[in-house]
Amino acid sequence: MPWVDASKCSGCGICVPKCPVDAIAMNSENVAVIDNAKCTYCGICFDVCPRQAIRPNSENPAMRGQGMGRGLGRSMGGGGLGRGQGHGRGLGGGRGGR
Ligand code: SF4
Ligand code: SF4
Repeated sequence: MPWVDASKCSGCGICVPKCPVDAIAMNSENVAVIDNAKCTYCGICFDVCPRQAIRPNSENPAMRGQGMGRGLGRSMGGGGLGRGQGHGRGLGGGRGGR
């Protein structure tokens, strides 16, 4: 769920028409507000905001301590084991019969 950092929002309004479900509106202080009931969490507004004012809720200070599950999915790089077994059997069954 996105939230708008009002201290970063410049009021440019770029995000408003970009939202496919019209979940973003400008409030009386010219700060973008997101209607969580409409938002589908598509993430478009995160990318279009030039000030990075729209942030995931995990960065919302008001939501801290509410059990954010951080998934650290670090994959240990398994070195590519390239086995090169050359099955090159030369079957030379040549009977030299006289
Ligand atoms: S995440 Fe998508 S649906 Fe939600 S406010 Fe941003 S653009 Fe709109
Ligand atoms: S694009 Fe960013 S700075 Fe512009 S109104 Fe939206 S949240 Fe505010």
